[in-house]
Amino acid sequence: MGLTIYVNGEYVPEEKAVVSVFDHGLLYGDGIFEGIRAYHNRVFKLKEHIDRLYDSANVLMLDIPLTRAEMAEVVLETMRRNGLREGYIRLIVTRGVGDLGLDPKKCKRVGVICIGASIQLYPEEFYERGLEIVTVPTRRNLNEAVNPRIKSLNYLNNILAKMEASLAGTIEAVMLNAEGYVAEATGDNIFIVNNGTLITPPSHVGILEGITRNAVMDLARDRGLPVAEKLFTRFELYTADECFLTGTAAEVIPVIKIDGRVIGSGRPGEVTKTLIHDFRALTKTDGPEIFQG
Ligand code: PMP
Repeated sequence: MGLTIYVNGEYVPEEKAVVSVFDHGLLYGDGIFEGIRAYHNRVFKLKEHIDRLYDSANVLMLDIPLTRAEMAEVVLETMRRNGLREGYIRLIVTRGVGDLGLDPKKCKRVGVICIGASIQLYPEEFYERGLEIVTVPTRRNLNEAVNPRIKSLNYLNNILAKMEASLAGTIEAVMLNAEGYVAEATGDNIFIVNNGTLITPPSHVGILEGITRNAVMDLARDRGLPVAEKLFTRFELYTADECFLTGTAAEVIPVIKIDGRVIGSGRPGEVTKTLIHDFRALTKTDGPEIFQG
């Protein structure tokens, strides 16, 4: 059975969920999105995702035609209409239909789409064994260009890096910023652990400020582990005790090799394993219920 998808105020079958070839989301990547997870009948960190969406919209001067509360309800109702208690939600806001020119003023109606679907989970062995990743030549976008904190529909920066990872035979890339500091992976944030302290790049280095990242920092603090947002280079990556990535799709995933250098013992570290456990526990209780009772 096909999905029911929210498009501009209506819930329609997926065959009818189409956008115009003149939508500036397609023509220019002029739009924003969120990727959200539902676990155990709850939408995880829904408020945080809605807030980030509206922050991205603000920076791009995209006037979303729904309040935050209405947008949250669209997410919950999309899941209900598809009978989903678990899964992945994609919220998309586009500049809307315009002409072939760049000018966003020609776009009269901002488009809103919400898709709720089952998620293809990463294989469990990634979590048990850990990932091998590489740093790649493509640098993360400058804050002064398109700020990486905007979750925009233009992911070419990340896609180029992902292709470079694939050429190197790995599934994920670490991107540095223009100054050579570690920024993030193509769809995930990065952490290292040194002497029990969690270290992750500050958002001003040029990263998407991940909601999973922030949740993991809170979980670490709850455990009494020190957390620092600090600039670091590849040297600190290679010499870390532990390394892991965080993201909505990946959750918390250990990294055991970077550019051929073995990290720590070459196996997922104890701090990483504790945080994977705590994160999974948090997904049972966080966020509003989809179906009541
Ligand atoms: N960085 C980038 C570039 C991303 O696209 C994402 C989300 N896919 C993340 C980090 C992780 O963010 P979150 O934890 O909010 O999913």
